[in-house]
Amino acid sequence: MDPKCWRVELNDGHFIPVLGFGTYATEEVPKSKALEATKLAIDAGFRHIDSAHWYNNEKEVGQAIRSKIEDGTVKREDIFYTSKLWITFLRPDLVQPALENSLKNLQLDYVDLYIIHFPTALKPGVKLLPEDEQGKVIIDAVDLCATWAAMEKCKDAGLTKSIGVSNFNRRQLEKILNKPGLKYKPVCNQVECHPYLNQSKLLDFCKSKDIVLVVYGALGTQRVKGWVDQSSPVLLDDPVLCAMAKRYERTPALIALRYQLQRGVVVLVKSYNEKRIKENMQVFEFQLTLEDMEVLDGLNRNLRYVLFKKAADHPEYPFSDEY
Ligand code: NAP
Repeated sequence: MDPKCWRVELNDGHFIPVLGFGTYATEEVPKSKALEATKLAIDAGFRHIDSAHWYNNEKEVGQAIRSKIEDGTVKREDIFYTSKLWITFLRPDLVQPALENSLKNLQLDYVDLYIIHFPTALKPGVKLLPEDEQGKVIIDAVDLCATWAAMEKCKDAGLTKSIGVSNFNRRQLEKILNKPGLKYKPVCNQVECHPYLNQSKLLDFCKSKDIVLVVYGALGTQRVKGWVDQSSPVLLDDPVLCAMAKRYERTPALIALRYQLQRGVVVLVKSYNEKRIKENMQVFEFQLTLEDMEVLDGLNRNLRYVLFKKAADHPEYPFSDEY
């Protein structure tokens, strides 16, 4: 099976490859690594690439995509590229300029998917995480429906093929879906998801509305200090996952990725390591039994690694609701 053919249809008629390459790395990692890893990922067969203004690597990721087009490995239309609207740009008048800025960094004419990164608007300005003297983030009052209308205009302007959201809870999705005069539904909701946080209720809700769930942190996230509690359990060390991996003669990472594909979600995976980038493509080479899928479902403990606690007081903080 050619992995490039593994795609699902979005509610606007475009197609998204079910396996995506995550490009986020912390600021300590040289940006040249994003360039190198994205080229390796395309060579390995990844056709879906996920980045964001927040990752501060769109220049390098764009360069990687363009170099793989120039050397004939892919055509632009073979690549599905996602960018994200950062939360200091949620005011409607800032949305299109933010996307145009991403396109300028990428040196691309369009993105395939543009998503609202997080529902909590912060004060616009040069700082991506504006804070007051007490170190609290400075909230901006923006109606998410107004942001959404500006996202719709970006699609109409041809700057993005599809539009969606990320880290939205059910209430916030419903808010958009019930928006008076809604022109386009979100095609996806990108959220943290793995066997310790399987998001089964949000997944069922999204499926019922023809919204694709795109999952990040499928391997338990990068456990970035300051973002993830360092004492939380390490997903890939889970004994059940490890025993299952042994039985399938695969790695725990591959079991965690395959689990997502069999649930009908789109899964992102980040690696900057050539061996692991290639390994992750093996997710298409085997299948988990229904019994093992149930065992993995049973590992759920509603453990969210990335809480973005700094925004916990925001009226649109998404993680206070059950889902
Ligand atoms: P992840 O995909 O869960 O991966 C975590 C770590 O696993 C990586 O740092 C990687 O390290 C390692 N890894 C990769 N393949 C492996 C394998 N086969 N065996 C063992 N270890 C392996 O991490 P993530 O970056 O948190 O999530 C993926 C992507 O989702 C991000 O890069 C980003 O594009 C997106 N994301 C979105 C949001 C959002 O708010 N929308 C939030 C977080 C992430 P090595 O590089 O050393 O291989």
